[in-house]
Amino acid sequence: MAIREIRKYPDPVLRAKTEQVRTFDASLQRLIEDMVETMHAAPGVGLAANQVGVSLQLAVIDVSGREEKEPRRAPVVLINPEVLALEGSVVAEEGCLSIPEYFADVKRAARLKVRALDRSGKPFEVEADGLLAKALQHEIDHLNGILFVDRLSPLKKSIFRRRLKKALVETA
Ligand SMILES: [Zn+2]
Repeated sequence: MAIREIRKYPDPVLRAKTEQVRTFDASLQRLIEDMVETMHAAPGVGLAANQVGVSLQLAVIDVSGREEKEPRRAPVVLINPEVLALEGSVVAEEGCLSIPEYFADVKRAARLKVRALDRSGKPFEVEADGLLAKALQHEIDHLNGILFVDRLSPLKKSIFRRRLKKALVETA
């Protein structure tokens, strides 16, 4: 296992639509292991393959051990995911490993149902609410080249752009 470099906004790989996974070989398993390790080390609750520069429909999510009294579970591996249903709406704070040190409220569906393939290519369905629902929507957005800042209100978006411009000038 190895920790991979997390690509940062505005890296164009984050904007490209990802390709479907078709081969479930050893290199895919290695990529999944690396992504889980990279996510835990960051630390974060989710990581999409394009965030480590691989443009595939693959994401890992681990929201376990975050909420009190909740035991750690195996990370969710999401391959070629498809949203089957969205329900309700909720506003909650989000951040992204590709956009360090920026957090903002995002409106999302409160509950959703997703169909995907697991790491061996077997289909499964997951129904989620709470933190897992938020993470699923955030990661599936990544696979479509969408970042959480795209979902902000126009005012918040302009604040984000100003902050970004300032950060780029300071690091130049
Ligand atoms: Zn993200």
